Amino acid sequence: MNKKLQKILEKADPNRDEIIYLLGLQGEDEKALFKKAAEIKAQYVGKVTWFRGLIEYSNICSKNCYYCGIRCGNKATDRYQLSDEDVLDAAKYAIDNNYGSIVIQAGERSNKAFTDKITELLTKIKSLSDTPPGITLSLGEQSESVFRAWKEAGAHRYLLRIESASRDLYHKLHPENELHSFENRIKSLRLLQKLGYQTGTGVMIGTPFQNMEHLADDLIFMRDFDIDMCGMGPYIEHEQTPLYKHKDQLMPLNDRFRLTLRMISTLRIMMKDINIAAATAMQAIDPIGREKAIMAGANVIMPNITPGCFRNNYKLYENKPCTDEEASDCSSCLEVRIGMTGDKIGYGQWGDPKHYFSRER
Ligand code: SAM
Ligand code: SF4
Repeated sequence: MNKKLQKILEKADPNRDEIIYLLGLQGEDEKALFKKAAEIKAQYVGKVTWFRGLIEYSNICSKNCYYCGIRCGNKATDRYQLSDEDVLDAAKYAIDNNYGSIVIQAGERSNKAFTDKITELLTKIKSLSDTPPGITLSLGEQSESVFRAWKEAGAHRYLLRIESASRDLYHKLHPENELHSFENRIKSLRLLQKLGYQTGTGVMIGTPFQNMEHLADDLIFMRDFDIDMCGMGPYIEHEQTPLYKHKDQLMPLNDRFRLTLRMISTLRIMMKDINIAAATAMQAIDPIGREKAIMAGANVIMPNITPGCFRNNYKLYENKPCTDEEASDCSSCLEVRIGMTGDKIGYGQWGDPKHYFSRER
């Protein structure tokens, strides 16, 4: 390993220039970065991968993010919302298979019928078992009273990606209007922290207009914000979105994938005891992409437990994996896949991020 890299990896906390340097590593140096992140993971959070059964509740969305296949402006998508029965069956599946936690994700909606429905579902899921699953929500920006009601009904984690810590880049990825306000996104993240949620954020990697400085600043944002969890993955273009017209300026998919691994490793070095998810988008590029992420420092995966017939319609990007399979098909191979990484599966526990309990509030 070269001397400069060795020196950076020995430090507890790299500075901005050093982060940019780490994000550009290739070959043997890149391997050394992954190895260091794996060592830190083993030391601080253990060689354990936590499962969160992912329920893609609905692809109905009131927003129009320029990158997302289920944006409201995409009229070519059939919209759905799972029935209560489907949600409860999926949650039961997670409980029966000892997943420990679930994630409920959907397009963003803030009307009362929707937010009340989520509260009702949370209450029902929590009463399914004497040992109910931990629940993460990923339902976009909401008012303080809604975040509070959902927390009281049983959700205790929330994932809201900042998408970019640069206001300027944020508004190249989103329309500039009240519904897509960078300031409101930050405010929502602050509210979640204030209300006591285990708070997660993240970004897409390899979007148009993004450079290494942006990504370094994203990692610094996560550190300074003192997040508990991170979910970040490669940007994958979708033909029916406005950003698609910039596809010629994108780096090759495999480079976006490798850069995501370096982002994960660098974040693990910067924030040793948080939870980091191996995003599903990793698997869309490489069949063992999530496993590679686990070996580079991630410790959470989100097996999709949405009923098979609806998965095809939750297409954020092209080539989304496992859209034709039922949950059980995925589950049978997961054990082997995680075994390959050298991790154990954290069955039957919530798998909360250690950082949440150690950070100052
Ligand atoms: N609507 C909620 C929100 O935006 O927070 C939750 C669902 S949204 C589909 C979850 C995440 O999907 C977003 O935060 C975004 O980063 C990611 N996503 C959307 N389009 C994507 C794309 N084309 N490639 C990769 N990730 C994408
Ligand atoms: Fe809607 Fe989330 Fe997609 Fe934006 S990223 S269009 S809020 S589902």
